[in-house]
Amino acid sequence: MLTLTKKFTSAFSVSGAEKPLADIIAKELAPVADAIETDAIGNLYVLKKGKDSSRKLMIAAHMDEIGFVVTSIDGDGYVHVSNIGGIHAVASSYQKVRFQNGVTGVIVLENGTKAADISVKKMVIDIGAKDKKAAEKRVKIGDVCAVVPMLQKLGGTRYAAKAFDDRIGCVVAAYAALHCDTPAYDTWFVFTVQEEVGCRGSRPATFRIAPDYGIALDVTSAGECGGSAVTKLGDGAAIKIKDSSVLCSAMIIDRLTELAKEGGIPYQYEVLLAGGTDTSSMQVVGAGCAVGCISIPTRYIHSPVETIDMKDLDACAKLLTAFIEKGAE
Ligand SMILES: [Zn+2]
Repeated sequence: MLTLTKKFTSAFSVSGAEKPLADIIAKELAPVADAIETDAIGNLYVLKKGKDSSRKLMIAAHMDEIGFVVTSIDGDGYVHVSNIGGIHAVASSYQKVRFQNGVTGVIVLENGTKAADISVKKMVIDIGAKDKKAAEKRVKIGDVCAVVPMLQKLGGTRYAAKAFDDRIGCVVAAYAALHCDTPAYDTWFVFTVQEEVGCRGSRPATFRIAPDYGIALDVTSAGECGGSAVTKLGDGAAIKIKDSSVLCSAMIIDRLTELAKEGGIPYQYEVLLAGGTDTSSMQVVGAGCAVGCISIPTRYIHSPVETIDMKDLDACAKLLTAFIEKGAE
C-alpha cells in the first residue's frame, strides 16, 4: 500500500489536469481489469466483473487536487494566480510549486501583507524570471500548478504529504481492485475528476454507470490540535453518516458496520461538519442509488502536510474489499 501511496502522491493532478495520474492508475490496474474506459470529462473507469452481473457497484475516489491557475504576469516577472479549489492561503504560502510543464517556482505573499489580509489574492509565484518577457517564455495565462510533492514519514505508521486528499482514496480503491476476490456485483472503480471544484466528474460517471450501490472514498478531518472533528487519527476506517452534501443510506451504513464487526476491522463513525464528497452525486444523479462512504481520517486537509496513519488506510482497504466481495446484503 505504501508503494502505491508513493506512486500516486508524486503525480501531477490538479483539477482539470488529471491525465498524468489517470495514466498511472490505468497502468497499475490493467492486469486485473475486465475493461478500462475514460470519458469526455476525464474520469477513469476500471471494471471488475462480478458473480451477479444484474447489479452494479460504483466505487468513487477523486484524482484531482487543489492548485493554482495563472491569471497574469507583471512587469517584474511575478506570476499572479487564482485558486483551483479550496486553497488555505496561510497553509499554502512560502511553498515550492511546480507547473504541469515542469517549471518550478516558490509561492509567496506580497510584501507587507498583514496576517489579517492573507488570501489567495495576495499570493504570487516567483519562477526566477527577471521580467515579464522572461516569465512569459516559461508560463502563460491558464497554466496550472500545485505544491511540489513530498512524502514524509513521521512517527510509527504516520505520514505527511500534500494531496493525500484524495490520493489515498485512490490508493484504497486501487488496492482493493488489485487484491479482491471476484466481486459480488459488476464493480466499476471510478477515479473521478474535478471533485475539488464541486463534485463535477462523479455526476456524468454516475449517469454513465447507473449503479445500484455507490461507495465513495475520501478523507475526513481527524483529531487536529484545537479541532472539533468527530473522527480520530488511528482509530480505523470512518463510516460516513453525513457531510454537507449527503446523508448516507442507512442500509449501507449498517452493512459497512456489520462487515467491520465480522472482519474485526477497526472502525468509527464520521459526521463531517463542513465539506462535500462524490457520495452525493451517486445518490442523486439519474434514478439515484443507495450510497455510503468510507472516509480516511486525515489531519490538516488542504495543506501541504496532510497527515494520515497507514493503519487507517489498511482498515479502509479491508472494509472496502469486504463490501466488494460480500455485497450490500
Ligand atoms: Zn477529497
